[in-house]
Amino acid sequence: MRKKILVIEDNELNRAMMSAILADDYDVLEAENGRAALDVLAVHRDSVSLILLDVVMPVMDDYTFLDTIRGDSELSAIPVIVMTQNTSEEEEVTALTHGATDFVPKPYRPQVILHRVASLIRFRETASMMNQLQYDRLTGLYSKEFFCQKVRERLDKTPDEDYVIICSDVENFKLYNDTFGREAGDRLLKQNAEALRVTMGEDGICCRYGADRFVCLRARGQKWIAQETFMQRAFSNLPGRRSITVKWGIYDITDRAIPVDLMCDRVMLAVDCVKGHYNRLYAVYDDELRSKLLRDKAITDAMETALAEKQFTVYYQPKYSLRDRRAAGAEALVRWVHPTWGFMSPGLFVPLFEKNGFVPKLDAYVWEQVCAQLRAWIDQGLDVMPVSVNVSRADVYQDNLAETLSELVRRYDIDPALLHLEITESSYAENPKQLIRTVEEFRRYGFVMEMDDFGSGYSSLSMLSHLRLDILKLDMKFLENEMEKTLEQSILNDIISMAHRLHLRVVAEGVENEAQLQRLIALKCDYVQGYYFAKPMPAEDFARHLQADKAADA
Ligand code: C2E
Ligand code: MG
Ligand code: MG
Repeated sequence: MRKKILVIEDNELNRAMMSAILADDYDVLEAENGRAALDVLAVHRDSVSLILLDVVMPVMDDYTFLDTIRGDSELSAIPVIVMTQNTSEEEEVTALTHGATDFVPKPYRPQVILHRVASLIRFRETASMMNQLQYDRLTGLYSKEFFCQKVRERLDKTPDEDYVIICSDVENFKLYNDTFGREAGDRLLKQNAEALRVTMGEDGICCRYGADRFVCLRARGQKWIAQETFMQRAFSNLPGRRSITVKWGIYDITDRAIPVDLMCDRVMLAVDCVKGHYNRLYAVYDDELRSKLLRDKAITDAMETALAEKQFTVYYQPKYSLRDRRAAGAEALVRWVHPTWGFMSPGLFVPLFEKNGFVPKLDAYVWEQVCAQLRAWIDQGLDVMPVSVNVSRADVYQDNLAETLSELVRRYDIDPALLHLEITESSYAENPKQLIRTVEEFRRYGFVMEMDDFGSGYSSLSMLSHLRLDILKLDMKFLENEMEKTLEQSILNDIISMAHRLHLRVVAEGVENEAQLQRLIALKCDYVQGYYFAKPMPAEDFARHLQADKAADA
């Protein structure tokens, strides 16, 4: 196929001469000034290989023309050779700063021109192979860098239009990939990309920002479609499509001066807030989120010091057996007593530590505190009971976790059966294979395994048959919902019977009143934990509590 060259020259005779020089090897398009040239480019923008530009032009001066095409990410890839009358250095520099690629002096020498044209076109073709990096190979959407450039151009070109940036994220994509295979995962990403492209419309700009994250620009106020519709568009004909959810982050562009990649960072922070929250679909980056992020940053800055200065303390909440109505153990729950912020509950910092990677350090500290405490109680001659510690999903990724813990109990000379380990459903959802392996190792070392917050998220009953557990801890939400039902309608009834069939003991968490207690007794629940009996308390209070419990018994 012959390549197209656009010659822009106001002098008709010169134009004809130039066309004649090129005509043997190229298809030549002609324009008599910059404005006419833009009209030609509007039609042939994808096929023009090179532009020859005369510097002195009446209607749109040459530099305005150069600036215009340099401001357009596609046109700017076309090389421009400037034809000059006088080759003063000043003129060359000016042309170069406006983005010209090369010069030819007048009068024209055909061989020189043909040579320069050919080598520039070759150069450009090589560069355009590089340009393919502007697109994501799998989905065909823009790459991150190109997206930022396109968005910047759009914002500059349409100052009166308002825009938002939207980020989409496939929840549990990793799990999907592991379950259904890479090929299905790729199909999911492609279909998701296509659904975004259709949904954002012609004026939308979409890119694959990385892995399962897509970022798009669209006009503010443009009508959005229902989540259901989007999911249907994106995931029809995929295996396991019912388990796929997309989460959204939204960033309203109010300040256009902010770099586009920073806007993307912010929209990503917004979507991070709803990931893992099964009842939230989207989040908007706003002042509230901003101040939350600032708070998170302050906490992150303070955490290492807090650990070094022992600002974290462990509270103990007793657990009771419903069979003999006696204390049967406790759960260790961390608290942070900061010198200026005061007393903080784990809800304020544990989720953040799970994200920023600090949780394994904190948990290792808590586990050691618990072992030291058990040792102290044993040395004081108290009747010790098992203490449950929380094992976050971030802990599970550590190599040799079971070995580390076993080493710890050995160091304090404690029976591993005194340490119960509470794992969560979310660790299973994230990485089932790893969790199954870890649980097996824990058991081999003699620890007792509990599943915490059962029923709070993506509970899967099949999980219970894959993981060998000892105790099931029911999420508090179960109890709240349960009380409106009759015994026959009770879901808890089914769950508790099933747990018993699997030889699991059951703990109900968050028991707050007598009615709930009576219901749990009727359902043959094994243990209870909740404010109705005792709140989490410092170690000394717990020891006193146990002694009182024992005295009352005697
Ligand atoms: P969790 O492991 O499910 O702990 C139970 C939470 O329920 C505790 O909240 C406890 O104080 C609270 N609770 C107990 N009884 C009742 C009740 O009757 N009513 C109500 N409304 N709440 C009750 P806490 O101590 O604020 O801990 C919150 C979560 O933080 C824990 O949930 C656990 O996921 C996490 N966490 C706490 N300590 C640690 C730790 O040392 N390491 C890790 N990784 N996570 C921890
Ligand atoms: Mg727990
Ligand atoms: Mg719990």
